[in-house]
This record gives sequence, structure tokens and C-alpha cells, in this order.
Amino acid sequence: MLCIVPRLTFPSECGSAMMQARRINFAMGSDVRWSAEGLLDVIAHHWGYRTLRPLQEPAMRAVLEGRDSLVVLPTGGGKSLCYQAPAVYFRATTVVVSPLIALMKDQVDSLQRCGVPAVQIDSSQSESERWSSEHDLRQGNARLVFVSPERLVNTDFYRLLQQIQVRTFAIDEAHCISHWGHDFRPEYRQLSRLRERFPQASVHAYTATATEQVRRDIITQLNLRHPEVLVGTFDRPNLTYRVLPRLDLFKQVEEVLARHDGESGIIYCPRRRDVDDLTTALLGRKHRVVAYHAGMSSEERHAAQEAFRTEQVDLVVATVAFGMGIDRSNVRFVLHTAMPKSLEHYQQETGRAGRDGLEAECVLLFSGADFFTQRSMIEKSVQEAGAVDPGFLPSALKHLDDMTRYCRGAICRHRALVSYFGQAYATPNCNACDICLGDTEEVPDATVLAQKILSCVARVKESFGINHVVGVLRGENTDTIRRRGHEQLTTFGLLKGQTKADLRDWIYQLIGQGLLLQVGEEYPLLKLNEASWQVMRGQRKVRLIQLVRRKQGEKPLLSRTVEASWEGVDQELFEKLRQLRRSLANAARVPPYVVFNDAVLRQLARLRPRNLTHMRQVPGIGDAKLRDYGKTFLEAILEHDARS
Ligand code: ADP
Ligand code: ZN
Repeated sequence: MLCIVPRLTFPSECGSAMMQARRINFAMGSDVRWSAEGLLDVIAHHWGYRTLRPLQEPAMRAVLEGRDSLVVLPTGGGKSLCYQAPAVYFRATTVVVSPLIALMKDQVDSLQRCGVPAVQIDSSQSESERWSSEHDLRQGNARLVFVSPERLVNTDFYRLLQQIQVRTFAIDEAHCISHWGHDFRPEYRQLSRLRERFPQASVHAYTATATEQVRRDIITQLNLRHPEVLVGTFDRPNLTYRVLPRLDLFKQVEEVLARHDGESGIIYCPRRRDVDDLTTALLGRKHRVVAYHAGMSSEERHAAQEAFRTEQVDLVVATVAFGMGIDRSNVRFVLHTAMPKSLEHYQQETGRAGRDGLEAECVLLFSGADFFTQRSMIEKSVQEAGAVDPGFLPSALKHLDDMTRYCRGAICRHRALVSYFGQAYATPNCNACDICLGDTEEVPDATVLAQKILSCVARVKESFGINHVVGVLRGENTDTIRRRGHEQLTTFGLLKGQTKADLRDWIYQLIGQGLLLQVGEEYPLLKLNEASWQVMRGQRKVRLIQLVRRKQGEKPLLSRTVEASWEGVDQELFEKLRQLRRSLANAARVPPYVVFNDAVLRQLARLRPRNLTHMRQVPGIGDAKLRDYGKTFLEAILEHDARS
């Protein structure tokens, strides 16, 4: 039976107290009744949240009312609560399909620690573990069961699900079903049979992937029935984005590490050998890092992932192979040492920062050379794959172009990212990107600089590459230059005072603006075009940008969120609580965020509660966690206060 549903008033994000929620009972069919207040009670009791994030309310409503849905929220947007809270509220079984076994275990642990009975069923379990999970399911003792897609369509499991009352299917990382997504998984295709096999249950898809095409594909592949489609804003206000010219890679990496001393970060490199080189260099400087790439054995990769997950190490240097399955919520920075191959990838990779809602920084070190490196990697992968979809290469190159334009662009990064994904961005100054924070500035006299560079290309008869041209401009006394007699050129030493890195960067900027060409595969040569001549004839002005030259030791500006999120926090106490959390988590063999996330720790170190009632007010501390950890943390806080 269909009915018209009154709109519930949930407290808003910044909001009013839970108790203000109006009690509205209404019927859906004969047996489905729920109240907003009841649901909020469940959330406060188990998760300790008193307010909901944007779209969590309508997303939960769809689950409660048994209407199919597709929920698109950015990473860290709080998708899990959308199906977890209704599962607890209804005391019926919700089946959660998740792509990675490692993640499932953490989710189950997290739920159990919030006092929510949950189990997983996967191929890594022993016979007895599986038996116990199935037993819990049959007895109706588990609110949620996490399964992989293969397992879900397995006949035995299918029979089991038919015996128990499954009300809801939640498909996590639903973009894995789409070819168009960045992480297609063939086994997800089998989920299209769910709809016909369980016609009475509702199916809910969750993803952070932003493109329209993927969304449509998810709906079609899962056969969703008139789904409620909820698309949140893709902006991640807690992330500060920086795209900076890559001038001296190692030095720039060190600078980022220094800004995030003792914090957690992921450093992405384009190729395996870059990962190995950087890891070696960082280990040499006594940084505790692990490497991760697809060339390592599966044991090595597993060990690296575990070390990171359990906070034994805080830094990982990795290729894009590292990511899915990383649920560590307190990643404070993501550093790309080169440009990724699409904005979708970039969004996905930077999305791993700041999942706990606290501030985090995303730095991309960019050089014009990155375009060519990525292009040759794409072309190589096409060659190796043999027959590929003829549309693949043009589409990949288009993505690369968009990515390059983003890097070169001089508009607010938040605005650029959000508009790429088809949304409007209202804030004029985000206060959280290199452009808005004024990290870069225009190079003075850029047109004259460009004329000098281009003239040099003309003088060497358009027959040399970047390094040679840079050498001539800087007046370097090298064999090749002398052999060619290029020290005789009028352009020799014309830009003597400039660094190699700056000159290279400007040349790439000229290429990027179409004022200079780079031609050829193995040894690309610099060539002039009509636009170059216009510049040389003074008919065209040029803009070049450079990093603002800060004084030695002067740090770049922090975003407003950084300042706000540490305001009033006793940092020494925060560190103590972090140690305590790590030891509790290690003893229980769970990742630390399962105990409390960083947002909870900071709030504890800010509020410094005097008793358990006071502590219970911290969002993220529900009754089960208060019972299990409250006393221990309270003692640590009181002891710290007594000492200081
Ligand atoms: P997603 O799956 O969308 O990436 P998660 O479900 O992992 O995001 O949630 C991200 C973080 O936000 C988690 O630490 C979670 O506990 C927290 N969170 C979710 N909903 C709320 C809420 N209503 N209030 C406060 N924190 C929340
Ligand atoms: Zn901005």
C-alpha cells in the first residue's frame, strides 16, 4: 500500500538537540511503523551522534520505507549509517555487499563495539567461524551481515537468506558494478539477479562516484525500482587542495612531512620505481614509511596494509594500487608526487584524506612532463591489453586533458573540482586551496621571459629538447653545448640567474598554454608555432605563475578549518589519548579508529570531561563505548589534568 508520508523534522547538522525531533508515527502497509524519535534514539544510543549529516535523513527514510535508493555522498559523508541505523531500528536482517574482505572485518568490529550485532560471511573464514555466523543469522541475532558479491549469489547462502527475513540489501561501493566507474569488478555484475530473487526486499546502492553515467548504470544493472536518488555535494570542505609546481621533489616532500609531523599520510607516485626510490630516500632520512605497489608479493602488500591500518606506521608511499580497503579515517594528508590520470582518480585518492571530518591537506606536485608520462603509460597499457574498446584511448586522453587543465588552472580548486562533477560552488573564496590562500603568484615580466625562452628555441633551430634549451639559457658549460658551438649563441646565458627547475617549469607552462610545442616520442624536441612567433613579435602577452617565495622556515598559510579544528584542543592530552587508544586497539586486535576516531579524541582533549555523564556528550561516544572505554579514558584525562 502506498501512502503519503509527512516530512520528518530531523535536527540539522549544526544542530538542535535530539529530543526536539517530533514524534511522527505513520503506517506503511500494515506492519511497518517507525518514528523519527525512535530512530534518533537508536543512533544516539549506539553511535553517540545527536545530529545527522546532510542527506542521511532521506537516505534512512528510503530504507525504512522499503523504497529502493541510490545514495551518492563523498567519502566520509556518512553512507554507512544510512543502512546501519535502520537495520538496528527494525531488528530485521540487512545484507551488506562489500567488495573487500579486509574492510568487512573492520566494519563488523566497529559495529560490535557500538553494541550492534553484526557478522560477516566470506571465503577467508574457517568452517567454525562460518558456522557461528550462519547460526547467528538463523537465530535472528545479527542485524547486519556483510558478504562479498560472489558469496551472495552462492546457492547455499541464497537458501539461507530465503529462510531468514531479509528486508534490506545495501550495496556498498556500488560503482564497482559499472564499466564506466574507476573500479569495475566483474563479480558485482552478478548482483543484477538480486531484484528477481528477493522481490520483497528493497535494494539500496551507495557510492562516492560522481558521474551521471555511472549513476545511470548502477540503477540499470541493479534493476532498482523507481529509486530515490540522493546526490550530495561533492565538495569536501575539510580538505585543503594545493597544486604546486614540482621543483625539487624530495625537498617538497620533506616540507609536507614537516608540516604533518607525527600525523598520517599517503604519498602517491606514478610508477613502482618511483615508490621504491622515494621510500629508500625517506627511510634514509629516518622516516618510518612502508612502500606499497602491485610489484610486491601479496604477503608484502598485506603486511604494509596492516601496518598502516593498525597505526604501526603512519606513512605509506604507494602507487594507485593502494587505496580500496584502506579505511583509516585519520589520514591527514595525501601527497601526489605527479599528476594522476584523471580527476576521477584524483578525487578518489584525495578522498582518503580526512574521512573523520577533520581537516586534511591534499598536495599535488605538478610538472608539465606529467602529461607525457601519463600519456605514454596509457598508450602502453592499451598496447599490452591488445584488443580494447576503440573508445577507450580517446576517452582516457580526454580525462588526461581535463586533469592537466585542472593543474594549470588558476581558479579555486574546490570550485574547479565541484564544477567538473557538474555541481555549482557558491563560496567565492574557499580559504582552503593554493589559489585562495595565495600560494602562487604571477611571475613578473613573464612576457619578456617567454620571449627569451622562445628565441633560444629558434636559435637552436628547433632541434633540441628541454634540457638542452635550459642549459643554453642558463649558460652552462657542458660538453654537448660546446660541441654544438651553442656557447656562441646570443641566447647563451640569457637567463643565467634562474634555476633549472624554474626554467623547466616555465617551459612546460608555455607548452601547456599552446605557446610552444613538444614533438616526438623518445627524445621530444621543442618546436615553435604561430603563437610562439606572436609572442616573440610582442603581439601577445604571456602569464606564468610561480610559488610565492616564502622566507626560510615560513610555513604556507593554513586553512580556516585547520585552525578551527584544533581550537581549544590540549594537544599534549590528545597525544596521550592517542597512545592509549593505540594500546587498547592493539590488545583487542582492531584498528585504532574502531575504538574512537580522531574527532572524538580531539573533542575529549578539548572538553576534558570530569565525569562519564559529561563524556557522553561527545559525538561518537555511544552507550557501549562509554561502558567499555569511558572509565579508562576518563582516568587518563583526570590524571593529565592533575599533572598540568
Ligand atoms: P562513507 O562511507 O560515506 O565514506 P562513513 O560512513 O565511513 O563514510 O562515515 C565517515 C565518518 O563520519 C565516520 O567516522 C562516521 O562515524 C562519521 N559519521 C557518520 N555519520 C555521522 C553523524 N551523523 N554525526 C557525526 N559523525 C558521523
Ligand atoms: Zn579556493
